[in-house]
Amino acid sequence: MTRSPLLKEVAFVQQKPRGRQFFANPGPTNIPDSVLLASAHASVDFNDPAFLEVYDACVDGLKRVLGTQHHLFLYAASGHGAWEATLVNLCSPGDCLLMLETGYFSESWSALARKHGLEVETVAADWRRGVELVELRRKLAEDKAHRFHAVCVVHNETSTGVRFPVEKVRAALDEVGHPALLLADTISSLASMDFRMDEWGIDGVVGGSQKGLMLPAGLSFTAASEKAMEAHRRARLPRFYFDWSQMLTRRQKSFVGTVPISFFYAMRESIRLLEEEGLAQVFARHHRLAEGVRRAVHAWGGNAGPQIFCTDPARRSDSVTAILMPEGFDADAIRRTVLSRFNVSLGGGLGSLGGKVFRIGHLGDLNEPMVLGALGAVEMSLRLNRVPHSAGGVDAAMNWYAEAA
Ligand SMILES: *Cc1c(COP(=O)(O)O)cnc(C)c1O
Repeated sequence: MTRSPLLKEVAFVQQKPRGRQFFANPGPTNIPDSVLLASAHASVDFNDPAFLEVYDACVDGLKRVLGTQHHLFLYAASGHGAWEATLVNLCSPGDCLLMLETGYFSESWSALARKHGLEVETVAADWRRGVELVELRRKLAEDKAHRFHAVCVVHNETSTGVRFPVEKVRAALDEVGHPALLLADTISSLASMDFRMDEWGIDGVVGGSQKGLMLPAGLSFTAASEKAMEAHRRARLPRFYFDWSQMLTRRQKSFVGTVPISFFYAMRESIRLLEEEGLAQVFARHHRLAEGVRRAVHAWGGNAGPQIFCTDPARRSDSVTAILMPEGFDADAIRRTVLSRFNVSLGGGLGSLGGKVFRIGHLGDLNEPMVLGALGAVEMSLRLNRVPHSAGGVDAAMNWYAEAA
């Protein structure tokens, strides 16, 4: 990214930050204190009945959060591991995937698939909107030979803040009688936005620990439908650590190696917190918090200021907002000011969006004052860096939160 001459970045004397860091990344996210405390558990044998009780409760709880009654395979890996595990368990060399283009994460999942010898065809899209459903229907109707083995969708594209209506893909497949598996990446939507695996007819769901589930990074999973299990029996890509068949021989029906036990003490608590609040209320809170962020950015956007990256209001994500800087102004300069001056951590632009957008994560263990703190730091940093904008973003968010409480 070349530095624009328009950029006037403010330099600060680095001081030791005081107070709590406001963490507004779209993953990892804030971890509730009770979850942190719950994870501090001495080692136990992972076949000890007392641990198995905790483990089974987590699997049941996670299935409720996913909206599935089918299979769940867990891995000691971040989300990338679950992407890989899902494909190697379901595909054979040369199989073709139909990937809906959404942004950086659909590109990364495609790159991973190609490295495994899969073909990837893409439904192209404007990153600011995502795939048009008519385009998807056209692609599926054209595939009379049923070359597509699976359709892959990133439910919530974390790099752009665009949510794709994954609930509409099953109908598109059924309309043309296409037998492809439907795979969804729900890493940054699960437990923050409505998601119902079985009801929406999804065959493989990829999820991770460090976003809506409010856990540390390092645990991920795939939920698999019966149709996916049938495909698994025929799939010939090499696999060992991620092999579902091998996992099914274990008591935990997951983990070929050691079970990362502390995750499950933590997860039992995070699921308890989610269900105590109620999933519907969790989704409503995320929507309320996200809407305040959107109103703030909308206010800043006056005077040729920053804009919400997602141009389709119906597809704006409730877990992350990507904010497009005015031409010639560096998003990373804002992030640096926000961090060095106010100790607020934001997400940066990924891939080709580097320097052009910054991202406010508003998912997980979060409330209005935490969001207002992040918004206040951004608004002050826009001013300090002389980025064109209209003031009043924080006011717009406060007005919304006061009404929508
Ligand atoms: C975070 C994320 C990933 C990658 O997960 P890692 O845990 O970083 O490996 C994949 N897809 C989406 C949509 C994500 O938000």
